[in-house]
Amino acid sequence: MSKTGLLDVIFPSRCAVCELPGPNLCQGCDFVLEPKPHVFQRGKVLGLAATSYSAEVAKLLIAFKDRGQFALARELGQLMEPLVNELLQVPNYLYLVPAPSRVQNFAKRGFQPSLLLARQLANRVPTAKVMNCLLLGSEVRDQVGLSSAERFRNLSGSMRLNQSVAGKTVFLVDDVVTTGATITEAWATVSLGGAIVLGALVVSEARA
Ligand SMILES: [Zn+2]
Repeated sequence: MSKTGLLDVIFPSRCAVCELPGPNLCQGCDFVLEPKPHVFQRGKVLGLAATSYSAEVAKLLIAFKDRGQFALARELGQLMEPLVNELLQVPNYLYLVPAPSRVQNFAKRGFQPSLLLARQLANRVPTAKVMNCLLLGSEVRDQVGLSSAERFRNLSGSMRLNQSVAGKTVFLVDDVVTTGATITEAWATVSLGGAIVLGALVVSEARA
């Protein structure tokens, strides 16, 4: 048991940002949900980020992805409201394609973070549907600790489609864009399958 001991028993959850026992995001830290939408570009891929990367946003995403607080998907959905507004402007019927997780990460977490985020968006956009069509090869290494060039090499040719995407209008969805290696590979794979990729939607853009 951690240093707070008894408090962990009384309040099994803690704030993702300040880590005090209580709700999974306390009132003092909910400033992290204030959207700061901006356009980003990585190579050929244009995208929209809901907010900039900060220590607080990083903690929120780590709690969501790696500490089992997947209930935070709802709060992250709130943060992604500007992305929803953007999707509502597009006249086409849209498919939201989540970035694929490594098999090992999926086994460890029990869920695919980008899929939960895509569902949050689709729940708010009547003209959008989630299409979880990308699979990642089992040979792909964890991107953490790799240089930008290594990340691109690690992912090159690593994705395939589990269904036809031909003619569909698509947005890619991920939690964070850093070097852009993941969205670039996803963009290439989905485009090669005949989809029209309008861009990428992420919670946060981190500088590479
Ligand atoms: Zn807090």
